Amino acid sequence: MERPEAWQLLDESWERALCIVAHPDDMEFGAAAAVARWTRQGKWVGYTMVTSGEAGIDGLAPDECREVREAEQVESARIVGVETVDFLHEPDGVLEYGVPLRRLLAAEVRRHRPEIVITGNFRDTWGGRNLNQADHIAVGKAVVDAVRDAGNRWVFPEQIKDDIEPWGGVREVWAFGSPQANHAVDTTETFELGVESLKAHRAYIDGLGWENWDPQEFLEGFARPVGQRLDVAFAAPFEVFPMGWGS
Ligand SMILES: [Zn+2]
Repeated sequence: MERPEAWQLLDESWERALCIVAHPDDMEFGAAAAVARWTRQGKWVGYTMVTSGEAGIDGLAPDECREVREAEQVESARIVGVETVDFLHEPDGVLEYGVPLRRLLAAEVRRHRPEIVITGNFRDTWGGRNLNQADHIAVGKAVVDAVRDAGNRWVFPEQIKDDIEPWGGVREVWAFGSPQANHAVDTTETFELGVESLKAHRAYIDGLGWENWDPQEFLEGFARPVGQRLDVAFAAPFEVFPMGWGS
């Protein structure tokens, strides 16, 4: 069989990464094993959840659901070595791309001062005809803008006070699961932690009602073909957006 074209390895010369996603469980459907690898290397990784996924379980009303899902996300983060999980409490399912969302995300970037910002795929599809979800697209687009906003003291200037300064130190934004991914990271060693991290979303997974759905098998199905590109068992794919000039 012909081997697929090799991808580039992700740059791992950084100390701090902030992951900004729409929903609890977004990280665990593709990026948690990579996060586990990085926290094991001694890097700091933080999670920002724009919503609490409170509209994600059909049989559970949002007020109750919010608490359950936040608890599951905190546990799932802990499994991969993430201690900081911020919930921004924006409304699940109806996020809008625009200045208010950029403002919230710029504040997160200024507060945590990451070199890398990670988000989910925000292309229109997952590849082929599988359409992406509106919240993912809104958040990903706002992340890219907010990274720029964070570095400009004249954008959202009301945030610049006390110990909050502009932060222009984000070198790249990485979108995991993008159909245009051309970078990857070996997740073989931490793959099981990624699976455990997904399994921590128990109420959510039960709520999906997918019979005989196996998180392990599911994640392997995505990670194996990417691994082949790096000549390893498992890997996670990312699309890389350079945020500096001239790169
Ligand atoms: Zn999601």
